[in-house]
This record gives sequence, structure tokens and C-alpha cells, in this order.
Amino acid sequence: MKLVLPGEIVGVEEEAIPVNGIYVDKRGYLRASIIGTLQLDRFKKTINIRPVNKRILQAVRQGSIVEGIVINQTDEIALVRIYRVDENRVVAIGILHISQLASEYVQDIYSYIKPSDIIKARVLNNIPPYVLSIKEPSTGVIAAQCSNCGSRLYTTLQGTLVCKNCGNQEKRKTVVGGYIYTLPR
Ligand SMILES: [Zn+2]
Repeated sequence: MKLVLPGEIVGVEEEAIPVNGIYVDKRGYLRASIIGTLQLDRFKKTINIRPVNKRILQAVRQGSIVEGIVINQTDEIALVRIYRVDENRVVAIGILHISQLASEYVQDIYSYIKPSDIIKARVLNNIPPYVLSIKEPSTGVIAAQCSNCGSRLYTTLQGTLVCKNCGNQEKRKTVVGGYIYTLPR
């Protein structure tokens, strides 16, 4: 079950007949027009997006701790696909602004967070898109990939991550005590 976001390419025009939640762009790409799960029927050659259950969306509240993946990033904002709130599966979009990364002044967003990072974050409002914060020590990056080779990054000292494959060292705002991959001593 693949989750898709508005604007995401889900196929090409010749490939399948769009049924619901999809539009065809000028170049003939099929793109999602809603947040939902992608459904392909290879026999009928149809493609459909089933909208996300509103009740599930409402599970995310101000104060909630959510887990998500950074799907896009600019110099000021990270776009996060939220997939878990507390212990429940959800589908929602969160926005993490550079001002919500740390209590100190942040000059370079990329030394705190990068696309494809998995993060744990606090929700600051009640309506989507959710505004997120990773200022608290118990929030931040819980898993990351090497920008150089794509292998997983392991924590060494607090705030420093290392790639066992290529030796690359990177920085993130990691969660205190909750980072998934830790180098054995
Ligand atoms: Zn690497």
C-alpha cells in the first residue's frame, strides 16, 4: 500500500486509466490530486487513489509526538510525510521550519536535517498541514542515510553520524537516546 501526495507522479497516460484522485499533466504524466493510497489494477489497467480516512488524520493533535520521513526540503523548510502518531499508523503532512530545529540560531538547515531522514517530532497545531518542532532533546532525527553513498549512518558521539561504507561524516539534530543505528563499542 503506497501512500502518495498531491502532485506526485504515479504513472504515465499510456500505462493506465485514471479512476479517482488523479489528473494528467501537460507532459502526459499521471499525478495524484489528493493524499491517499495508490491502487493499481493490472487486469483492468486502472489506477486509483483511495483518499485517506479523515478520522485517521484527526488523530494528529497539538502536542502529539509523530514519526515521519523528510520528503522534500528547501533552505528554510522541510516537508515531512507523517506515518505514525504515538503507536498508531496515520497519513498526514507536516512542515518543519528552520526556526523549529533548535533553540539556538540555525544557519544551515542541512546540518540539522536532510531529505529521507526519519524524524520524531512534536506537533504544534491542530489542522493540516501540521507544524512540527524538533527542538526538544527527545525529538529529532532517528535514522539517516549517507549523502555520499546512501548507506545508513550510525551515531558515534552526540550529533555526529558516520557511514561505515564510505567513511563519510555528517551532522544532524539527532534524538537523544533514540537514534536507531548506533555503532557497537
Ligand atoms: Zn557513505
